[in-house]
Amino acid sequence: MASTQGDGPFRIAIVGGGIGGLFCALAIHHHCSAVGVPIKIDVYEQASQYKEIGAGVGVGINAARLVHKLGIGGKLNAVAGHRSGIWITFRRYDNSGDIVTVPVNDNQTIRQAPCARTDLLDLLRETVEERGAATLHTRKACKNVEDLGQSVRLHFADTTTAEADVVIACDGIHSAVRNQFVVDKPVFSGQIAYRGVIPIASLSNWPFPSYSVAWLAKHRHLLVFPISRNEQLNIVAFVTKSEGEVADVKESWTSICDRKDVEKDFAGFDGPAQDIISLMSEQPSKWKLNDRQPLDRWYYMDGKVILLGDAAHAMLPHLGAGAGQAMEDGWLLGRALSERLSRSDNSHFQTLESTAQLYQSVRLPRAQKTQATSRAAGNTYEMQTDDMLDKTFEECVPMIAERTRERMKWVWEEDLDAAYEKARDGAGSLASGNDPAEFGGKVPPKNAVSVEAQ
Ligand SMILES: Cc1cc2nc3c(=O)[nH]c(=O)nc-3n(C[C@H](O)[C@H](O)[C@H](O)COP(=O)(O)OP(=O)(O)OC[C@H]3O[C@@H](n4cnc5c(N)ncnc54)[C@H](O)[C@@H]3O)c2cc1C
Repeated sequence: MASTQGDGPFRIAIVGGGIGGLFCALAIHHHCSAVGVPIKIDVYEQASQYKEIGAGVGVGINAARLVHKLGIGGKLNAVAGHRSGIWITFRRYDNSGDIVTVPVNDNQTIRQAPCARTDLLDLLRETVEERGAATLHTRKACKNVEDLGQSVRLHFADTTTAEADVVIACDGIHSAVRNQFVVDKPVFSGQIAYRGVIPIASLSNWPFPSYSVAWLAKHRHLLVFPISRNEQLNIVAFVTKSEGEVADVKESWTSICDRKDVEKDFAGFDGPAQDIISLMSEQPSKWKLNDRQPLDRWYYMDGKVILLGDAAHAMLPHLGAGAGQAMEDGWLLGRALSERLSRSDNSHFQTLESTAQLYQSVRLPRAQKTQATSRAAGNTYEMQTDDMLDKTFEECVPMIAERTRERMKWVWEEDLDAAYEKARDGAGSLASGNDPAEFGGKVPPKNAVSVEAQ
């Protein structure tokens, strides 16, 4: 299938060059190259360069598997940290006693890949450039999109425009494209996070078998995991706060603070946790944690505008899964578009809209289950679930252990391609691993949380 502009290649505009946008460009290029479909991808990024913040990101094995399928898994492993057989060990805040330790097999080639965000984005950008997968634009803040019937016009803040046959909105939680079609606001989770990165060599005493540890207390938890070949330790310190207490965290929802604020919030934590905080920079970043309510649909203008990543399903970070879910979106959207463009006679590919519908039917239930479970996990770690609010720390500890042991299994073990093929070939539209009964056979309702997900 050619572009609506005559016989030229099919034109794909990706708005936002973050992890979701660049992975999506690579996935579409990968799938379309495999079937010889001519496409032209343009990525429009608002910033002056393709850059990430200096913090870590956990790439779960479900997402790492896709990076390997793109042929860059070895490069990912080369910049990632290593968890030494333990996904994470949850510890008591006061004496570092074990609450629950969750093992992970990370001696395989395809394994968990906790990374510096900058390393991951650089890997994706360099691969886009090496493969000529897309043209990367900077300083192109998309304001809105206009339906031209057969195509879409993108309007940018610098008053320029561009035209495409399909627009994929990967512009994050504040997505301008999403805002054109959906009237809602980010939802404050009741938590903030202080973030930082320190050299692992600066830790004089480390009593745990892995560098992946979370110390839990009521209303607070401190999470660390290794990145950058175990040279750096990523730190995220979560605290439950009321809306009034975070009035200083403004529009961008990030700001810097004084390390003393972190020390105050984590007073009473055991020695190794205090050591880590004392090594944070004097002005760590402070994040107001928001997610979004689930959407009923991810595509508009008859499938010519499609949402992906945080623009579709912004979630809290408590499963370390948001970027991975964005990559899953990109992988399957790439598969679906390549099948549409190669004129598959499967009925799902008759129109762009039915193609977008197939993508949504596989991805939306799983992404929204991850959204709901991330929220529930945060409330569990902070001991803020309804059934923990009136309980003491000691009473909550066994509940946390019980709810945490198996939490990640369905996130990591999904066979994404099999789920897609099952939906495409008519055997059902829900991805395996999502139990339809759990949500009444429909998309999870707003704030839906299963007992297992708590
Ligand atoms: C504290 C914290 C910790 C986290 N930890 C993890 C983790 O360990 N593992 C994990 O998987 N996820 C984690 N996440 C979630 C993860 O960061 C997001 O899910 C992921 O970055 C989403 O990627 P994205 O590309 O959809 O959006 P973003 O990363 O937000 O990228 C959006 C891009 O679009 C650009 N953009 C925005 N608006 C426009 C516009 N109008 N026009 C053009 N460009 C635009 C932005 O500049 C940016 O480059 C964490 C999140 C937080 C807040």
